[in-house]
Amino acid sequence: MEVIVHKKRMTAIIRTVVDRKNNNQHPFNLPQATVPQILVPEDLRANKVELACFYFFLCIYMRGGIVSKTVFKKLLKIRDENPWMFDPFEVSTKSEREIWQVLRRRIGWDAENAARFWFENSKRLVNHWGGNPLSILDGMTNYEEACRRFPNKSGSARKRSKASHAGDLFRSSDEGFFGYGYKMVSMILYFLDWEGLLKPRFPYPSPADFHHYRIFIANRGLSIKTNNGRSVRYSEEISEKIRASVLDFIKKERADPVIVSDALWLFSLLMCGESLATVRSDNEIKTSPAPLLDGRVEAKVAIAQPSPMQLSRTCGICCFRESCELAIPAAPYYRKGIIEHAPRPTHSGVTEMPRGYEHSPRATRTESGQEQFLLPGLTSKIENDPDGDT
Ligand code: SF4
Repeated sequence: MEVIVHKKRMTAIIRTVVDRKNNNQHPFNLPQATVPQILVPEDLRANKVELACFYFFLCIYMRGGIVSKTVFKKLLKIRDENPWMFDPFEVSTKSEREIWQVLRRRIGWDAENAARFWFENSKRLVNHWGGNPLSILDGMTNYEEACRRFPNKSGSARKRSKASHAGDLFRSSDEGFFGYGYKMVSMILYFLDWEGLLKPRFPYPSPADFHHYRIFIANRGLSIKTNNGRSVRYSEEISEKIRASVLDFIKKERADPVIVSDALWLFSLLMCGESLATVRSDNEIKTSPAPLLDGRVEAKVAIAQPSPMQLSRTCGICCFRESCELAIPAAPYYRKGIIEHAPRPTHSGVTEMPRGYEHSPRATRTESGQEQFLLPGLTSKIENDPDGDT
């Protein structure tokens, strides 16, 4: 597989969605343009260590096909019923089976692995960080350091060796945390940053997930060549290129990583995800996925062909409607880890923004309301304020 980054296009895509987010333009002015953190109750937010523990455990489930807001709701329910589940000291005294029973009853999906991660990560948090996820951030001033501290090192000799070369902090085999790959490093940094707990703030890439794949591949920010017509799957090789591009943008444009994360995720969710162009019909599921070829489209995957009017609230008014080439449904990715695609249906006849879509900006509901997140505060903070105090 070969992953080709079209740097200018990548930058233009990120800049476009971030500008729209900053100016509260469609789709970011829709009532549903909210992030799941707004579900966190204020009593939890009042205790910073408890709040950090909540996100620390929540990251275990920020994977697979579960909708983010569902994860928040279910874990908040678990917190109401079994508060011990979010206290690493108490979790360490339980058995994996007790954790599994709670997760199986309330969530179900992958409860066995999640229980193992929950238990092991609690032990490591207690043994190495005083049971406080915020201690992991102590002295952390850059993304590279986060990548050294969070990922699990017990899996491979290569990772252990890499960690040992990186410094003295990690040398044993129970370093880092289960389930914390590079996507999850970004995820925990993003959540803690959103809550104002990342001090000092520093640039980090947004969590590279399906939504990033979709928006960048559909708009040819990334081209992927596969061997022998094999389908494109989630891969660290692709994610790594996306992370590098996003981080490069954040550093060069002095963009707020929270805004960039929210913008990319919400745009894909509210625009591409709601478009009928990304819906497949049943008989099409039998069709083999086609490879993504650089420069041309040879998709065999048939996607529903909605009428222009059916696209009038998504692709038809999308800021990428002239450049976006592919429709990429979410279902095959979440079911099989495959990025299927087809040429995006044209939108001829729908060129006008429906009335009421571009109303004047109002306060966005994705902001935490803390001064720390208001631009341009971040840029001066990174450069001039090593302690990150506001
Ligand atoms: S044109 Fe449609 S599929 Fe393409 S980026 Fe816009 S909403 Fe998504």
